[in-house]
Amino acid sequence: MARAAVRRRLTWRLATVAAITQEAAGARRLSLSIDGWEGHLAGQHVDVRLTAPDGYQAQRSYSIASAPESPTVDLVVQRVGDGEVSPYLVDDLRVGDELELRGPIGGYFVWHPDVDSPLQLVAGGSGVAPFLAVLDHHAALGLSVPVRLLYSARTLDDVVGRQRLDDHAARGVAVTIALTRERPPGWTGLSGRVTPSTIRQHTLPVHRQPRVLVCGPTTFVEAVADALVDEGHPTAAIKIERFG
Ligand SMILES: Cc1cc2nc3c(=O)[nH]c(=O)nc-3n(C[C@H](O)[C@H](O)[C@H](O)COP(=O)(O)OP(=O)(O)OC[C@H]3O[C@@H](n4cnc5c(N)ncnc54)[C@H](O)[C@@H]3O)c2cc1C
Repeated sequence: MARAAVRRRLTWRLATVAAITQEAAGARRLSLSIDGWEGHLAGQHVDVRLTAPDGYQAQRSYSIASAPESPTVDLVVQRVGDGEVSPYLVDDLRVGDELELRGPIGGYFVWHPDVDSPLQLVAGGSGVAPFLAVLDHHAALGLSVPVRLLYSARTLDDVVGRQRLDDHAARGVAVTIALTRERPPGWTGLSGRVTPSTIRQHTLPVHRQPRVLVCGPTTFVEAVADALVDEGHPTAAIKIERFG
């Protein structure tokens, strides 16, 4: 039974683009409709495969950015300038197009809402994508377990899912955004890179015993994980996902 489930998950299948939403300057939400989707956990990802007319194939992983409750499976893709796959997904894909995809994948970097501990999320760039699923899931379940997000983006225009994050902040999620490049006039959030001092001041302290999920580019994730461990968080409480 379990083996059959794994085999089903790893089969390539077709997803239809049901809607496209601009989420940031270079990022779009692709809402996919997938026949027979068996559900997913917040934090899981899928593999997307593109095939060129000459048969050349390219495959990339994308976190699922929608909660398990969502009728569509959403991906938030940020364009990487000289990338092979992401520019196509962000600039060329249209509603009604089909994509080859397999998943859901991953049993480690997931958030189980039955866990009572507070939750600390730390995202760099497009690493916020799985946390959009986590936050929507937390909201859908009406949970009171405290959640905090520390999110590093280059500029305000690069902040993915701003409206959604504002909505989560309004319902009590502590959202802290750190901009590493341009800051708009009157910006009251953080400026500069996430450093050990940022971690100390803007994440849940060790004595609250939070679960911590960290996601983003490899160098970001490793620096944050090191700072969390130095701060005294047990390694078992920290889960990381590298987008590098
Ligand atoms: C588990 C997992 C989940 C992921 N989820 C998401 C997601 O939800 N949203 C999303 O946008 N991306 C996500 N990624 C990253 C994604 O898989 C691709 O790596 C990304 O879209 C770039 O692919 P590309 O073909 O456009 O670039 P490539 O042609 O692969 O790379 C072009 C150049 O950009 C560099 N590069 C590659 N990826 C990145 C990056 N993320 N940031 C900066 N530089 C990069 C490469 O080193 C190379 O120099 C995820 C990766 C993993 C492993």
